[in-house]
Amino acid sequence: MRDVPLLIIGAGPAGLSAAYRAAEAGCDVLLLERAKKIGGQLVKQTHKFFGSEKQFASTRGIHIVDILAGRTKDLPGKVEILTDATVLGIYEDGVVTADIAGTIEKIRPQAVIVATGAYERTLAFPGNDLPGVYGAGAVQTLMNEYGIKPGDQVLMVGAGNIGLIVSYQLMQAGVKVKAVIDAADRIGGYLVHASKIRRAGVPILVRHTVEAALGDSEVEQAVIVEIDDEWQPIKETRQVLDVDVICVAVGLSPLADLLYQAGAKSFYISPLGGHVPLRDQNMMTTLENIYIAGDVAGIEEASSAMVEGELAGVAAAQKLGYETPDTDQLKESCLAELRQLRAGPTGGKIRTGLALAGVYS
Ligand SMILES: Cc1cc2nc3c(=O)[nH]c(=O)nc-3n(C[C@H](O)[C@H](O)[C@H](O)COP(=O)(O)OP(=O)(O)OC[C@H]3O[C@@H](n4cnc5c(N)ncnc54)[C@H](O)[C@@H]3O)c2cc1C
Repeated sequence: MRDVPLLIIGAGPAGLSAAYRAAEAGCDVLLLERAKKIGGQLVKQTHKFFGSEKQFASTRGIHIVDILAGRTKDLPGKVEILTDATVLGIYEDGVVTADIAGTIEKIRPQAVIVATGAYERTLAFPGNDLPGVYGAGAVQTLMNEYGIKPGDQVLMVGAGNIGLIVSYQLMQAGVKVKAVIDAADRIGGYLVHASKIRRAGVPILVRHTVEAALGDSEVEQAVIVEIDDEWQPIKETRQVLDVDVICVAVGLSPLADLLYQAGAKSFYISPLGGHVPLRDQNMMTTLENIYIAGDVAGIEEASSAMVEGELAGVAAAQKLGYETPDTDQLKESCLAELRQLRAGPTGGKIRTGLALAGVYS
């Protein structure tokens, strides 16, 4: 059994930021990451980030990882990062089990920050199990991590930021994007991304859905159709597109299984992406000394994941008795930054979700 003051689960932007702030206050941290490398979703994001300058806007996601990891070094507390380390369960007696490079280990932390991120949603349609139907995360991983083109002709399903950015990256890789479709009546992503794609001649069809993937042993065609106000297909608008990839980018949901299992109270809050663990202003869940940060607390962006991570890191360390004269001020400035990131029309959905969760708006 390994005893640690603070265990952080997940080394994405939220977990790395939490480790930095907790160790800065003097708290030793064990950070476990199930992937073979740290960074979470940032490892496949080759584009320059949008968002706020303080959270590295205009820097490529893949380079932000190095900045965040660099900040966890030479601090009063020690940060130990283990990769290939999947946390399996958080139990009633506070013990956590993890598969660390094939060996099951038990850890007894005084506090835990869960920063496990999100999982991709998918769509049910005939043929969705044919090779060639991918989630957007898989397409990004193939192209941006391994340099492999997923196919030659793509239908993108989903016109949120992820669908739009991945479409652009596909085009940069020489792949033809036949169309971007979305069942909503408007484009969900930032218009700056949509304009780039439209300028390159790709139609973005709102109020459209995918009805089926066709092909014998892999995707050869996609059937798309316009939908009416009741979300029913308008048969005469049916089109068949020759594509070998259908990329599904219909959103993410918080990856909160460890928290359900531990018994944290959660609610289904649609604007935050699904079942979300409840938390207080310090990011502590309904379980004593178990905190959350980042997409697991509601789907947002890396910028807010980093600030939530910092807040959870400072707060968890403080609860364990590690604080500096600046601790309270730092927490206040994290809260102020979050309010600023969520201000304006683009933050409306998040503000609604947080209000439903009973958290500060
Ligand atoms: C295509 C795309 C473009 C984006 N562009 C931007 C942008 O320009 N600007 C911006 O601000 N945001 C952007 N985002 C959003 C941003 O990437 C995410 O909001 C952010 O990565 C969330 O951070 P996180 O740390 O909460 O989760 P993640 O980055 O998902 O990290 C979670 C980590 O936890 C690990 N993990 C999960 N379960 C376990 C377990 N049981 N044990 C151990 N480890 C575990 C995972 O392997 C992962 O490494 C984009 C997202 C996508 C998909």
